[in-house]
Amino acid sequence: CGIVGYIGNNDAKEILLRGLEKLEYRGYDSAGIAVLNEDGVHVFKEKGRIANLRESVDLGVEASVGIGHTRWATHGVPSKVNSHPHQSSTERFTLVHNGVIENYEQVKKQYISGVELLSETDTEVIVQLVEHFVKEGMEVEEAFRRTLSELKGSYAIGLIDNENPETIYVGKNKSPLLVGKGEGFNVIASDAMAMLSQTDQYVELMDKEIVIVTRDSYTIKTLDGEVVERAPYTAELDA
Ligand code: GLU
Repeated sequence: CGIVGYIGNNDAKEILLRGLEKLEYRGYDSAGIAVLNEDGVHVFKEKGRIANLRESVDLGVEASVGIGHTRWATHGVPSKVNSHPHQSSTERFTLVHNGVIENYEQVKKQYISGVELLSETDTEVIVQLVEHFVKEGMEVEEAFRRTLSELKGSYAIGLIDNENPETIYVGKNKSPLLVGKGEGFNVIASDAMAMLSQTDQYVELMDKEIVIVTRDSYTIKTLDGEVVERAPYTAELDA
């Protein structure tokens, strides 16, 4: 029921776990994080409390990019397999999602009927669809925009690409999501509370916008690929 993400130069695991702890008040049944470094992506997820997740995280993994999720199950029981992050078949893409994809069965039938899904979630279809469009020859950003334009329903999404540790892809429709701007890093979060210890500069997203987030930039676009200029505001909340 909440999303966080971090790209910078500090320990992503700890920043993500603390961010998820700040989102606990929203309620959840499982939690997970994925961090990316030169060895590839490392996914940790567990049913139950964030304390359980914390115990399962390998503290030896050094990474400064990652995404995190607390889940409130809508499709598929609360379980480790159904927890986010979810990955594409080749494990190139890793994704977290809040919300409900109303047409996931139809999308699955139309584009990825040959792909074996591991979970019972509506979410897994999203990450498989990104991979499908990339395999068809699209650049990742285009594949992401195309995927989102196929979806009906609500989503706040964070996506990372094994082959590009310099970027987090973000998308939003009818579920809350903010980008937090730092000095030499950027964060994403469902609400500013989660990342107030990092920054108080936030950029609001509108429905059907994506953001390409790097360490030192954020680029907002429409699903058609048009750039949208929007400056951050200062969040006046007590951490
Ligand atoms: N529909 C997704 C699922 O059931 C996401 C639920 C959520 O918002 O946490 O896994």
